Amino acid sequence: MLAALIVLAVAAGCASIPGGVGRRASLAKAILNNPRISLMSYHVSGRRDSATALHNIQHTARGGAARRSYYGRAPGGQVRLDARMLRAMNALAKDGYSFRVTELAGGSHSSKSRHYLGVAFDVDSVNGHRVRHGHPSHRRFMRRCKRLGATEVKGPGDRGHSSHIHVAWPRTGGR
Ligand SMILES: [Zn+2]
Repeated sequence: MLAALIVLAVAAGCASIPGGVGRRASLAKAILNNPRISLMSYHVSGRRDSATALHNIQHTARGGAARRSYYGRAPGGQVRLDARMLRAMNALAKDGYSFRVTELAGGSHSSKSRHYLGVAFDVDSVNGHRVRHGHPSHRRFMRRCKRLGATEVKGPGDRGHSSHIHVAWPRTGGR
């Protein structure tokens, strides 16, 4: 009986991992229910699949993995979203930021992008303003992301990021 339970727990990927699947699911539910966080239901490219930011968070809220896209340089398959990132998204909203998430694990990015590892998200709007040079608070938002543990934060002024902020955590470490 105990052995069967352990097998079930391992199969669910949550064997004695603090902040495992259940934790990620509740963090994702909080994101879904937070009016300050909007999640795009299609890709920046205009494509629609089951790997959009909205799908990624919905699947995580149900205890599942987030899907990756199958177009461009995207590798397909699925990945669990990192709890540090989910926690930070909730923390940003709690700080009073409202923002729109364009991509999580889905979409096509550079071949070794951290998006595919479930540790990165993109934002194209903060506090009702599109991200661009001269945005009133995007620098502050980016600094806050770094304080929340993100180690790869890019935005206007960085190559390829004139209209969005990219926020990523290290690929290994806490959950
Ligand atoms: Zn990105």
